[in-house]
Amino acid sequence: MNGRRKPDWLKMRPPSGQRFTEIKRTLRDRDLHTVCEEANCPNMGECWSGRDGPGTATFMLMGDRCSRGCNFCDVETGGMEPLDPDEPANVAVAVAEIGLDYVVLTSVDRDDLEDGGAAHFAETIREIKERDAGILVEVLIPDFGGDPDAVREIIEAEPDVIAHNVETVERLQWPVRDRRANYEQTLSVLEQVKRESDIHTKTSIMLGLGEYDHEVYRTLADLREADVDVVTLGQYLQPSRSHLDVFEYVHPDVFDTWARVAEEELGFGYCASGPMVRSSYKAGELFVERVLR
Ligand code: SF4
Ligand code: SF4
Repeated sequence: MNGRRKPDWLKMRPPSGQRFTEIKRTLRDRDLHTVCEEANCPNMGECWSGRDGPGTATFMLMGDRCSRGCNFCDVETGGMEPLDPDEPANVAVAVAEIGLDYVVLTSVDRDDLEDGGAAHFAETIREIKERDAGILVEVLIPDFGGDPDAVREIIEAEPDVIAHNVETVERLQWPVRDRRANYEQTLSVLEQVKRESDIHTKTSIMLGLGEYDHEVYRTLADLREADVDVVTLGQYLQPSRSHLDVFEYVHPDVFDTWARVAEEELGFGYCASGPMVRSSYKAGELFVERVLR
């Protein structure tokens, strides 16, 4: 679909405002990175400001280079740096300074590390909670190569939500994701969290990659079978010409239909679904309103 103009519903307004500028300054001062900025996410204005106060931001841990190379993702592959031991505390201080009440932590995949970076993730959760136990922490974790001990390390740090993205339907796992990721492994990470804790689980699916409706339905049903609480669906957008082509721009009405199917028919706690929705889209607002209400 190269060269096709994006439909109007995908046109985005650049984020602005005083709060946006303040948050940006704090992040630069502490040399921290957010997925929001790295991915030039269209939702920054909404997420960072929240509706009635502090909002959500997604911090990227363990560097900006990944040991994997998914064909939809703009993160560079290879050349990973050693972990920064100060990062967990730095993130915690920045979260407190900015005044966020809901934080999403995610990371690149670090297959080069023995535990995949699980201990670093866990330490960051603890640092944030030690400073303010009231802050809600969602972690969007890698599959840790299917290592249950690494997933357990995250569970034991007691975040409020553990997310792990299935990204697409089973048939398209490759070529969409790196060959080391797969559908079964993702379901088993999400199942383990529910088996070993009462932490809320969440996952995300991109549409517009050539999936059929019956495959999306089957994916949603499999995720419910794994007791996943929250699902988000958004439009895949091609980060550059060297990434996978967009197969189609899915109409907003179709996203609305999937939200109804997910919530009313399949029983998810909530489903955020729309062309611009990303895994962590207004995660704090939605979680508090729809899950903790
Ligand atoms: Fe991007 Fe995650 Fe895939 Fe790495 S594992 S390339 S960060 S989607
Ligand atoms: Fe950041 Fe996620 Fe919101 Fe985008 S959707 S601005 S990445 S918190």
